[in-house]
Amino acid sequence: MSLTVVNEISKVRELVKQYKKEGKTIALVPTMGCLHDGHKSLMEKAHSIADITIISVFVNPIQFCPGEDYDKYPRTLDADKIVAQHAGVDVIFAPSVNEMYPNLQKFSDLTMVVPPYELTDIMCGKSRLGHFDGVETVVSKLFNIVQPDYACFGMKDIQQLFLIKKMVRDLNFPVEIVPCPLVREASGLALSSRNKYLSDSQKTIALTISKSLFAIRDMFKAGIKDTKKLFDTGLTNLDKNVELEYLEFVDKDSFKQVAEIKSTTICAMAARVGNVRLIDNVVLEV
Ligand code: AMP
Repeated sequence: MSLTVVNEISKVRELVKQYKKEGKTIALVPTMGCLHDGHKSLMEKAHSIADITIISVFVNPIQFCPGEDYDKYPRTLDADKIVAQHAGVDVIFAPSVNEMYPNLQKFSDLTMVVPPYELTDIMCGKSRLGHFDGVETVVSKLFNIVQPDYACFGMKDIQQLFLIKKMVRDLNFPVEIVPCPLVREASGLALSSRNKYLSDSQKTIALTISKSLFAIRDMFKAGIKDTKKLFDTGLTNLDKNVELEYLEFVDKDSFKQVAEIKSTTICAMAARVGNVRLIDNVVLEV
């Protein structure tokens, strides 16, 4: 099937109505575009589980905090179409900001979906105030617009994945969330649209983020369960030019901080290299 690009909510709804009439299942992959092999793995997964794959390409203004990179976030729709086509995508939904939020200048007037404070007062939610309110709101809108049977999310954004799964349970969205593994460059660097901002020398520095997480995983596999010791190993392996925002150990199922690892734990990091904020994580399997 050929790729269709639509910008209007009404158009994507028409298509969805037709697909449903034909008894076809739909998988959605929400993205902000600037597609790379990480996104591609989600689209391929979607293509393998549903009859129709729809991706959204939308740089969602309400999930950016003041001073973040909303204005300069890379917008590369023409290149994205090619990546999407190769990954078997049927429809790209690429709405304008006005299409999604016709009244955005009156932001306080928007109905929002807000995750519980105790789950956002850690990790990315702590430094990016309101970020996950913006994410859950846009994902809810996308679920209502596309009404997918499946929605694929990457484990790269591990706190986001956790919160979306909880939102779907709490609000009874009739969609199955499909977690997809984190995809890395051969060097180990986690793929991210923001890697585009890195110079070659910054990339070398950024590589110590995954190196540090892998060192933690190796130590854990060697039998160290004390997260204080694992934390120190992480710090030792980080380049001194990496500005650490957090390095947290949280239980995979509750996202509560862990002192001694007794059940499967996520070790997640956010750090800045220059002005570029990067996130990465490894799963410490028990
Ligand atoms: P974004 O465009 O950054 O909002 O990401 C859209 C989706 O792609 C999210 O579910 C991300 O978790 C996922 N994603 C981004 N980078 C990667 C990666 N390196 N590996 C796997 N999934 C990814």
